[in-house]
Amino acid sequence: NTVYLNGSFMPIEEAKISPLDRGFLFGDGIYEVIPSYEGKTVGLEPHMQRMFDGMSAIGIQCNKSLEEWKALIQELISLNGGGNLGIYLQVSRGADVKRYHAYPKDVEPTVFAMVMAIKPAVEADASTAKGFSVATTQDMRWKRCQIKSTALLGNVMHFQEGYASGNDEILLYNEDNFLTEASSSNAFIVKDGVVLTPIQDNQILPGITRKLILDILEKDGSIPFEVRNISMEEVFNADEIWVTSSSKELAPVTVIDGKPVGNGKVGGVWEAAFKLYTQFKFDY
Ligand code: PLP
Repeated sequence: NTVYLNGSFMPIEEAKISPLDRGFLFGDGIYEVIPSYEGKTVGLEPHMQRMFDGMSAIGIQCNKSLEEWKALIQELISLNGGGNLGIYLQVSRGADVKRYHAYPKDVEPTVFAMVMAIKPAVEADASTAKGFSVATTQDMRWKRCQIKSTALLGNVMHFQEGYASGNDEILLYNEDNFLTEASSSNAFIVKDGVVLTPIQDNQILPGITRKLILDILEKDGSIPFEVRNISMEEVFNADEIWVTSSSKELAPVTVIDGKPVGNGKVGGVWEAAFKLYTQFKFDY
């Protein structure tokens, strides 16, 4: 695994950062994961835009241009042999001379990138797709979930709650009993043929897979969708539930809190939407 750290490519064993790095001490950084299948990325520019938005939201100045990021990513893909890779990028605020909360001046951000293996893109087929199982719990994270921060303890603790009880993911709901997202994915439901997903606000990450799916559905026009608040009652009575992310793409959920979703089988709307996603994702 060849990684990138602060201007150079090197074997992961040689990549070293200071214990004073604020990414380590405070989780003070922004990260991104971009899927790449056999050398072809999905959503590269929207992913980079989200990363720039995140850095600007927390006041990190990293002077790499979009073109420089693209070149770095291409180099990393080729140094790691192409294949199916999640490109992980992280920029932390850097290492100050002391541990002190205020943003330091004149500190260079730490820029790190590596690749992670992801599953190859598969053909959509409701009869063979694996159904995910999810738990549910109240969303206890912070109120700035739109920032893709490396401070992931809230997400990690929620994911672990689901994982410890044998689930693949955990759906989260806010104090008003509305669905937000999942611990590492965005969430969708289907009711009577209509696809529904929560509004993009500070309670959810602006998922790129979510964005691509909504754009593809809009352009195709054959599957109706609405972006609105979704109560947990609607979630429990949904015909289908999906969770989306760069690594799992569009995953159908067939079990929620140990009970079947709809008829307990992977749904037909999922199959149609996944076919569209598979067909058009490389256009982004
Ligand atoms: N929501 C959370 C909390 C996430 O961590 C992720 C991705 O890891 C997503 C949603 C999905 O985002 P994307 O589709 O950009 O991978």
